[in-house]
Amino acid sequence: ERERLGRLRHTPAVTLDGEPVELLANIELQSDAEAAIAAGAQGVGLFRTEFLFMNRNGELPGEEEQFEAYRGAVMAMQGLPVTIRTVDVGADKPLDRLSIHELRQEQGLNPALGLRAIRWSLSEPSMFRQQLRAILRASAHGPVRLLIPMLAHESEIRLTLEMIDRAKQQLREAGLAYGEVQVGAMIEVPAAALMVEAFLDRFDFLAIGTNDLVQYTLAIDRADEAVAHLYDPWHPAVLHLLHHIIRAARKRGKSVCVCGEIAGDIDFTEVLLAMGLRSFSMHPSQIPALKQKVLRTDTRRCSVLRPARGVPD
Ligand code: PEP
Ligand code: MG
Repeated sequence: ERERLGRLRHTPAVTLDGEPVELLANIELQSDAEAAIAAGAQGVGLFRTEFLFMNRNGELPGEEEQFEAYRGAVMAMQGLPVTIRTVDVGADKPLDRLSIHELRQEQGLNPALGLRAIRWSLSEPSMFRQQLRAILRASAHGPVRLLIPMLAHESEIRLTLEMIDRAKQQLREAGLAYGEVQVGAMIEVPAAALMVEAFLDRFDFLAIGTNDLVQYTLAIDRADEAVAHLYDPWHPAVLHLLHHIIRAARKRGKSVCVCGEIAGDIDFTEVLLAMGLRSFSMHPSQIPALKQKVLRTDTRRCSVLRPARGVPD
């Protein structure tokens, strides 16, 4: 079986009715790019850069260190697109060694609703500009797409886009090269899903972070075991938001990818294809099985409803 899946590596992912499907990899380290290539990924749909920032006792990586890491991933992907997400620390990914439980005890607050991801980046403008410059510079070495996590407010969109323009201006002034970089937004807060049109007006592409979208839609902390049984990506409210985002993006002709855990779950493939999704980003190890699922699926026979399971005829 493993060998057969290995042979699939060079087979394009096309459904039985001829719909091409893009299969991308989620990576966390520059070295994961090799696994992505080996699995036959068509690019990186999500480079989680926070792993460069974590467990360093408060010392942050500088622009050069980040540039080397991003360029390394871009080179390793051999001309395939690499979507680099700006740092998403906080909540379940604390900057320092404190575990989430220690953090909660210390702060007495819920870090999932606190200063994380783009909120933290905008509160640390000099750190954020360094990261933006490092990502932009990597684009001189291959196709790079820039992705922003956790946006929910119009003001965050405006400030972020201004920061990107400013970072480009600084690079030009310093005579440092950068390429054409598409800028995308993660849709992972229900507020963003409900105002997806505003995101489509301002961004080149969307990436749906279902891990957080489920958490925030259902008010279930994704790190809290006491309510883990209620963390349900099949909840109709989640499916409704997913369909809404995908349909809106397709209508505007903008690319939309799902990069949460459900993207690599073959139980979800038919529902997502039925909603119009044609781009999936997942752990490299899941790509062969997902490709096999796509090759055996006819999108004309897929339904946006959850397939009945264990129900007698
Ligand atoms: C998500 O929220 O689905 C996602 C892809 O981002 P992360 O898991 O890194 O929060
Ligand atoms: Mg997320």
